[in-house]
Amino acid sequence: MTRLFDRLDALPKLSVEERQLLESVVALTRDEIAPRAAEYDRVGEFPWGNVRDINALGLNAMFVPEAYGGAGLSYAAYLACVREISAACASTGIIWATNFHAIKPLIDFGTEEQKRRLLPRIAEGALAALAITEPSAGSDATGMTTRFTPDGDDILINGGKTFITNGDVADLYLLFGKWTELGDERNAISALILEKGTPGLTILRKEDKMGHRASSTAALAFEDCRVPRANLLGEPGGGLNLLLAALNKSRPSVAAHALGIARAAFDDAVAYVNERRQSGRRIVEFQGIQFLLADLATDLAMCEAWLWHVAALVDAGVADIGPEASMLKMRASDLAMRVATEAVQLHGGYGYIKEYRVERLMRDAKITQIWEGTNQVHRQLIGRSLIDRS
Ligand SMILES: Cc1cc2nc3c(=O)[nH]c(=O)nc-3n(C[C@H](O)[C@H](O)[C@H](O)COP(=O)(O)OP(=O)(O)OC[C@H]3O[C@@H](n4cnc5c(N)ncnc54)[C@H](O)[C@@H]3O)c2cc1C
Repeated sequence: MTRLFDRLDALPKLSVEERQLLESVVALTRDEIAPRAAEYDRVGEFPWGNVRDINALGLNAMFVPEAYGGAGLSYAAYLACVREISAACASTGIIWATNFHAIKPLIDFGTEEQKRRLLPRIAEGALAALAITEPSAGSDATGMTTRFTPDGDDILINGGKTFITNGDVADLYLLFGKWTELGDERNAISALILEKGTPGLTILRKEDKMGHRASSTAALAFEDCRVPRANLLGEPGGGLNLLLAALNKSRPSVAAHALGIARAAFDDAVAYVNERRQSGRRIVEFQGIQFLLADLATDLAMCEAWLWHVAALVDAGVADIGPEASMLKMRASDLAMRVATEAVQLHGGYGYIKEYRVERLMRDAKITQIWEGTNQVHRQLIGRSLIDRS
């Protein structure tokens, strides 16, 4: 079994430098991040210690191109790091991955001036947030009501966002809203970069959550919040295309995060059933337990193989990966929830006790089926891609 997963882990074609970095991440998660995860979860505190350690390894630099102070490593290497960190501490995994989700559109669509000005800060370890969701615009983001009003060389922002990961700690926000001159339709959606501490930006509250208790999820309000027009990303009204392109890169990333949780739950389950004895036998020897583990191992292996398939597509420069990314996000997150729930079941009563990690993994797994497009939405996207439009 171990060999099977070792071979899968060797599947992405990483350079020597990328493998070395991944080994450093494995050591960091094993020695520092995993041992702290239960306490961060218990107190619900933002894991600044983990963020400092991640930055000490220079991890943000891996997704920033070399020309702007980064290292420009592959998407596969990035996903491997997300999975590793998330297996150790799902909160820390999503905090770091959110930096990538928010900044990738700046890398792909920003002007040279914007990239020179903003990307070195990210490479050095700044935190970022991606702000799309509003109280009445979730699954259908086109219903957003945040307004961008041009005012000379500036843009005035009015409105609000909800459920924003890193929302209270971010140095930079990638913010979506509608360009007032273009009306209220989807082609009015625009994107800009908002910097921490801009007057008119208020952090309304931090949510009290079921899982991911160490990551922060904030509601934001904007009242005549003024940003220079130089921070507009793309053209006024060009935001929807940018948003869809961004989601194609962030959805495999949240899948890697979910697979980290799934792998951790699977490892704990296998270790426990090999040790726990009932009726004079290790419980792994009962065929009912073996059949369950066989199904989980098979689905986990298939899904991980698909993760590397999607990573290879992105690294090869294939842009239109919407259905593949949706399949991956949907299956990885459903699997994370299933494996975590079964891992609790296999621990019997002990699985319900906080002393065992599977209790936290089950709470952490649930949101993966909801964010970055609920799994109902992904089923729709995959289904729609099969309609013959010729
Ligand atoms: C912890 C956390 C972190 C988050 N981080 C971020 C972030 O960093 N940035 C950000 O912008 N957002 C973030 N979100 C928001 C998240 O992406 C949304 O919650 C999600 O997209 C669902 O939107 P909603 O909550 O408004 O639910 P709704 O859209 O109201 O959905 C409610 C239910 O209806 C179903 N439904 C809706 N439409 C359809 C349909 N057409 N067909 C079938 N079923 C449908 C949904 O699947 C769901 O089951 C976060 C949320 C949480 C809880």
